[in-house]
Amino acid sequence: MLKVTKFGGSSLADAGQYRKVREIIEMDPSRSVVVVSAAGKRFSDDHKITDLLYLCSAHLKYGVSCGSVFQMIKDRYVTIRNELKLKVDIEKDFDDLWNEMTGGIQEEKLVSRGEYFSAKLMAAFLGYEFIDAAMWLKFRLDGSVDKEASYEALSRLASGRKCVIPGFYGVMPDGKIRLMDRGGSDITGALAAAALEADVYENWTDVSGILMADPRIVPEARTISRVTYSELRELSYVGSQVLHEQTVFPVREKNIPLNIRNTNDPTNPGTMIRESFDSAEEDSLITGIAGKKGYDIVTITKNGMSSEASSLRRILEIFEKYNVVISYAPSGIDVYSVVVETGVFDPVRYQILADIQKEMKPDHIHVSENIAIIAAVGRKMAFRSGSSGKIFQALGESGVNIRMISQGPEELNIIIGVKEKDFNTAVSSLYHKFVQ
Ligand code: ASP
Repeated sequence: MLKVTKFGGSSLADAGQYRKVREIIEMDPSRSVVVVSAAGKRFSDDHKITDLLYLCSAHLKYGVSCGSVFQMIKDRYVTIRNELKLKVDIEKDFDDLWNEMTGGIQEEKLVSRGEYFSAKLMAAFLGYEFIDAAMWLKFRLDGSVDKEASYEALSRLASGRKCVIPGFYGVMPDGKIRLMDRGGSDITGALAAAALEADVYENWTDVSGILMADPRIVPEARTISRVTYSELRELSYVGSQVLHEQTVFPVREKNIPLNIRNTNDPTNPGTMIRESFDSAEEDSLITGIAGKKGYDIVTITKNGMSSEASSLRRILEIFEKYNVVISYAPSGIDVYSVVVETGVFDPVRYQILADIQKEMKPDHIHVSENIAIIAAVGRKMAFRSGSSGKIFQALGESGVNIRMISQGPEELNIIIGVKEKDFNTAVSSLYHKFVQ
């Protein structure tokens, strides 16, 4: 049995958090591979180490001294080292880093040092080996991860060993460090789990899993105990954000379950994510409700348009020309609607509308602004009558006008567009309709 565990920034914020991590690791001998983030915030006004490293880099770029910011970073790690009484000469590493910075360091290398120092200290604290991400996580020139080469390298380095790996970065073919997106240590953990064909990938954070709805809207929202990869994709697509969006791909490809756990509440089983669950295990009709504001709906109407084979393609090509991703495309007879994110659509709005006018010569184009999209997601909704009825009843009872409806053919979700002002009411009434 092998568990790859990843601990986020809040789980490594200070010496007390390191101790909690060690207890978790020692509780289960199969937790032999540990991936870590840089130290996160200890309290709400605190700074994440990665943010401070970006700040150092900005200072260097403009020739402003960054000594005091650098000192804050060094102090965080030195304090952790001292409180844990570790014999790691971290001052030497910081001196070398400072020398490199004065000579003109690559920004990505500097920013990656948060994860690097976390991993060095955690390896010493656990008595595990340190394996640098630059030794195995290989990027191609186009910036994508070379999974084959990376998996081969990690299984050679880590198989049968107990080790700690820094998240968030890897190496380019020319040996330079490359960073992932913010929050990318989640992806490093998933890649490590896939490389080592782990039995489970545990992602330890500061919440006890994914909630059924945004707690800012529904404070009593329950934790989702089981969710499939497809459901999670649907929920993340419209705003549920516990994991980095790309985390699921490497583990899903290898059919490795992903378990989200809370470092501050380690006995809580958290959320388990798998390809599928036995029906006996399933509980609520709805797995979760997610949503976000900031959409526009462009509706194009033209008599006879539904009988023209090329009409939908021509509309979609206009959006493609301006690189605007279409989130949903509900249609009716002689009417096509296209749902787009306002932030992406706005800068090219008039060019797109002018092109539609010229290309399609529609009878009417209408843009509905300030739209929020809500997805009610649940594998149990498939082939069950009554779920959409319940949704419409809940929204009707709370006086919310539905502006758009779309259902995926696999019946995993029902997507609703409402005015932004109705967003909170809609999410809350859906939650209470489905969850007692
Ligand atoms: N430390 C990086 C960040 O703050 C990566 C991570 O924590 O996953 O984004």
